[in-house]
Amino acid sequence: MQKIFLLILIISIAISGAGCDSSYATKKRITKEQDRIVTGKLKYDYDVMEKDLRALRRKYGEAISYTSIGKSVEGRELYAVKIGKGDQKLLVVGSVHAREWMTSYLLMNLLELYLEAGQEGKRVGAYNIRKMLQDATITFVPMLNPDGVDLVLNGVGDRDKASLMHMNENIEDFSRWKANIAGVDLNRQFNADWADTVSKEAPSFENYKGESYLDQPESQALAALAEQEDFDITAAYHLSGSVIFWYYHQEGANYRRDLRIARRIRWITGYKLVKEKDSDEVAAGFKDWFVKVYKRPGYTIEIGDKRYDEIVVEDISRFVRENRKVIPYLAKEAKKIK
Ligand SMILES: [Zn+2]
Repeated sequence: MQKIFLLILIISIAISGAGCDSSYATKKRITKEQDRIVTGKLKYDYDVMEKDLRALRRKYGEAISYTSIGKSVEGRELYAVKIGKGDQKLLVVGSVHAREWMTSYLLMNLLELYLEAGQEGKRVGAYNIRKMLQDATITFVPMLNPDGVDLVLNGVGDRDKASLMHMNENIEDFSRWKANIAGVDLNRQFNADWADTVSKEAPSFENYKGESYLDQPESQALAALAEQEDFDITAAYHLSGSVIFWYYHQEGANYRRDLRIARRIRWITGYKLVKEKDSDEVAAGFKDWFVKVYKRPGYTIEIGDKRYDEIVVEDISRFVRENRKVIPYLAKEAKKIK
């Protein structure tokens, strides 16, 4: 009986071993996906991101480095992650708004994609990633608002629930929270017509601009990073709408340049451009400030064509597909900026 069993086992191993190329390819692909560090999670919070950053550093060594550019209101690190060693400088920001945590997941996926392609000498679309990493330094701030993301994904915990409920219009469900944990909208915090920017009167889950511009540690850290690094182009990822904001009172050659680049991002992603007349005249967003102060291109890219609470983690592969060529493209454009 044992012999028969053994025989069946040997035959079945022989059959499976003689599989066609496609099953081999599938197996190889599965192994590859299993090797990935940044993988499908139900939620992508600060702790998961921190663990992934450490694992990426262990796997890719000096190809990736990260530092903290400051601490959030609750003392979480605000990480800035660098890949590449070139003179062109890009900045990519995620999770400015708490409920848009999927943008952190997207940026971490892109980070790993470029690290892997750089190491293996592979292309992303037509872009040679090894060359991109020689020519450009790309700084990711994957989670500008870690406290807010934690509130959305993990709930109130031991925070003062009454005060948070008050800021949330007495609704127990915090999944719609956009602000930082102090109730300030980090994308209404920058010195670009801040005084005239529309705002709620008091701290709120959304749309309160603070008592003065840059009065929150998260927005301060981002502005300080921009001042220190002198970026050629910046892109802040938000959710949702599948649209690209690009306009902030540019004129002449800068207007034509920034629109041309925006059109190309539209072509890559399939997202729509927000018309000038539909862009906020006064906004105090990061992109507005960057465009105004540095006179260089800054974009707000809104991923996802569903509501923030209808987007599921399985949508990530589509977001990666739509956006993976944006950063390599911007790295090329950056050569023409300074
Ligand atoms: Zn947003």
